[in-house]
Amino acid sequence: MTPLLDMLPGGVLVTTLGRQIRYANAFFRTDLGLDDQTLIGAQVEVLLTPAARIFYDTYLHPLILNGGRCDEVQFNLMSGTGEQVPVVACLRRTDEAEATVVWCLMRADNRSRMYEELVKAQEDVSSYARKMQDLAATDPLTGMPNRREFERLTRRDLRNADRVGVPLGLVMIDIDHFKSFNDSHGHAAGDEVLRRCGAALMSITRSGETVARLGGEEFGCCLFGANATGAEAFARRVHDSLRSLSVEQRQITVSIGIAIRPVGGARDLASLLKQADIALYGAKSAGRNCTVCNTAGTLVLCG
Ligand code: GH3
Ligand code: MG
Ligand code: MG
Repeated sequence: MTPLLDMLPGGVLVTTLGRQIRYANAFFRTDLGLDDQTLIGAQVEVLLTPAARIFYDTYLHPLILNGGRCDEVQFNLMSGTGEQVPVVACLRRTDEAEATVVWCLMRADNRSRMYEELVKAQEDVSSYARKMQDLAATDPLTGMPNRREFERLTRRDLRNADRVGVPLGLVMIDIDHFKSFNDSHGHAAGDEVLRRCGAALMSITRSGETVARLGGEEFGCCLFGANATGAEAFARRVHDSLRSLSVEQRQITVSIGIAIRPVGGARDLASLLKQADIALYGAKSAGRNCTVCNTAGTLVLCG
């Protein structure tokens, strides 16, 4: 009949205090491919991975010598073919004349797998949350930041501009006669214009500048640190870059409204947007394909 200890679904090991293996049940043969010939009389280190040896030397062995027991510790055994087998172990020192250590071992592969799956699940949730955050901040047609994200970034820039003591330029760009373009060439061609305008604007935006699609055929830029001269130079770059943009053989032009928030000016985004909107309306009234700058309520046509 099979000895009782060989029928256990785990390992039983007996070692001397000098770490020599005295007994190993069938678990070591079936699960680790190590027979009695290899084990009996050998040092227990033959069963341990390099990391487990350090753990044994510095923690397990002193604990057994001093306290006589050790519960639910996890480490890796090394199989006969060099594979690592995670186990959970309880160790007891016996009180016989020649004291021995009895090891009870249970495989912990699933426990390790559970930790790995937990970590992976956590990573999946974080990456999904990041993706959702990106989606919520992005305009699907152009891939640019949307109005909500634009407002968030501009509010942040307004706070920082105060802290650093620099002005800030807010620029609104609106495609001219876009309704008529849509009516003549169809909505899909109109979408293509929006995508290409968006790409052109993104390509001229520098670090410290935010560009976004605010909705419809309107784009917004926030120029951190820009005064009227800097914002007007940006507007010129916009007109220049769109000069080469024609779709369905029609030249695309835009009107631009600029509002400047001087150092120490009002920090309120809504009023700054309103001033840029007034400037944009001024550019439309001035015949389109031009820029108007609004500095403290004074509108200046700047080409
Ligand atoms: P203005 O020069 O005064 O700005 O005239 P406009 O025709 O550009 O302005 P209007 O506000 O009259 O028309 C805007 C048009 O933009 C109307 C609307 O159908 C179109 N539009 C808004 N969103 C989209 C979109 O996502 N795709 C397309 N293809 N068209 C859009
Ligand atoms: Mg328009
Ligand atoms: Mg418009």
